[in-house]
Amino acid sequence: MNSTSTDTMSILHGILKTITDKQQQLERGPLRVGAHQHRVDSLTTEMETAQQNHRDSRMTADNKQLQLKSSETKIEELQTKLNTCSSNREYQALLEQIAADQMAGSVLEDEILDALETVDTLGEQVTLATKTVEEAKGKLKEETVQVQAEAEVLRREIEALEAELAEAETSLPPEIRPDYDRIVKTRRDDSMASVNDGICEGCFQQITPNMIAQLALKESVICTSCGRLLYPASSD
Ligand SMILES: [Zn+2]
Repeated sequence: MNSTSTDTMSILHGILKTITDKQQQLERGPLRVGAHQHRVDSLTTEMETAQQNHRDSRMTADNKQLQLKSSETKIEELQTKLNTCSSNREYQALLEQIAADQMAGSVLEDEILDALETVDTLGEQVTLATKTVEEAKGKLKEETVQVQAEAEVLRREIEALEAELAEAETSLPPEIRPDYDRIVKTRRDDSMASVNDGICEGCFQQITPNMIAQLALKESVICTSCGRLLYPASSD
């Protein structure tokens, strides 16, 4: 048996597999960057929600403070009115009104303290969320640079392998070349399989004795069950 054609096909198959592997690595690059971009996007949404909550809490606190101020003004007016009362009954009614308003004001003061605490807490959340977004953006940038650098290396390697492939293809026996060209064009690294002990190592089906004989004669043999171009496994 001519071992050169076997070696050639085994070498071609090896190169094709390596090219496919490197192409897959190349394709994973944008996915890696995309995953980081997705994280930045969702963290940004979280940060914006935190910012909105913070603004809302600020507004709530401001409104309550305005409410307290107007309530205090009203109490002052009522106290002024006390001096101009014409009857004891009116005077008593005013005193009750003032007491009720003061009570309401005291409740409002408590609410304002709570609201200001909420503003602080939500402000801290905004700071934290902003920091997290910045960190994620930094990682996105790092990953983008890393992926670009890797892609450059991979493209150069693939280019070199394609040249190596073309060089090795020149050693293919002419009887095999047409089938090789046709199948490799569409199936790339999946286009070939070695045969070991009469078994196609692509689909693990037994091939016929006639096919084994053809292989020994360096003829082009295609597996009838998986369609791969067959070559004898190296005997080393
Ligand atoms: Zn097969």
